[in-house]
Amino acid sequence: MKPQPYRGRQVVLPTLHAKSQAIAPAFAERLGAQVVEHPCDTDRFGTFSGEVAREGTALDAARRKVAQAFADTDAELALASEGSFGPHPETGFIPAGQELLHFADRARDFALTVSLTTAETNYRMAEVDSLDALTEFAQRARFPSHALILATGPRDARRRVLKGIRDETALAQAFANLLRESGETAVWVETDMRASHNPTRMAAIAQLAQTLATRLDTPCPACGLPGWGQVDALTGLPCAWCGTPTRLVHSVVHGCVKCGHSERRERPDGRATADPGHCPECNP
Ligand SMILES: [Zn+2]
Ligand SMILES: [Zn+2]
Repeated sequence: MKPQPYRGRQVVLPTLHAKSQAIAPAFAERLGAQVVEHPCDTDRFGTFSGEVAREGTALDAARRKVAQAFADTDAELALASEGSFGPHPETGFIPAGQELLHFADRARDFALTVSLTTAETNYRMAEVDSLDALTEFAQRARFPSHALILATGPRDARRRVLKGIRDETALAQAFANLLRESGETAVWVETDMRASHNPTRMAAIAQLAQTLATRLDTPCPACGLPGWGQVDALTGLPCAWCGTPTRLVHSVVHGCVKCGHSERRERPDGRATADPGHCPECNP
């Protein structure tokens, strides 16, 4: 029988933003583990709306949250979620969300990080000088199912920030108030990226939680530790016409979180050659 190392175990999740909604189902169904929120002030590790700048990378911030959970509790298992938003890393033209989940097992002494880049996000910001412009922004941002933030002052030195706005009357009122009190002719509006205020982001975290739970349910074939799975993708799939290596994925590497064992595997879809449209020789 397959080992079930996390059945009946608790995994502590430091968050103020109800992220266990997105993560707990995958951990319960796949691992039989319970995700328990640890209400620590994760905002001091950085906020999306610019009041607290995040120090270092998303992974640094996730590691700090996990370390905080281990310091505050006697839990052996902890998990942190971190999101980043900006131009898509490949195309640059469309906004993208990057989600990261960082899991740590204190007793087995290993950590596992999984990440996801998705164009499925409502992330955007703009300066608006009329209620019409604000309403148009709100529609594109999937308001009111997704909350908005209104702010005055430059992004690195906000004077006023109103978060979590979720109904039309409150939005119009906040807009009028900020214009009046700032004496300016425009107000910044941006999407509220906190998971509890953003169902699209919650769905991305849920998808990534499935990936993480699947990894934790897969033992390393060499040492048996949980967390085995894809750690790298190698490009160079040969062109179907001339055999030149392309930038498409040729094979994937699966690896262990700790012992260093790894195995190279064919592409999951079994494709052995690339369409010549991707070839630098046939289609430069
Ligand atoms: Zn191993
Ligand atoms: Zn070719």
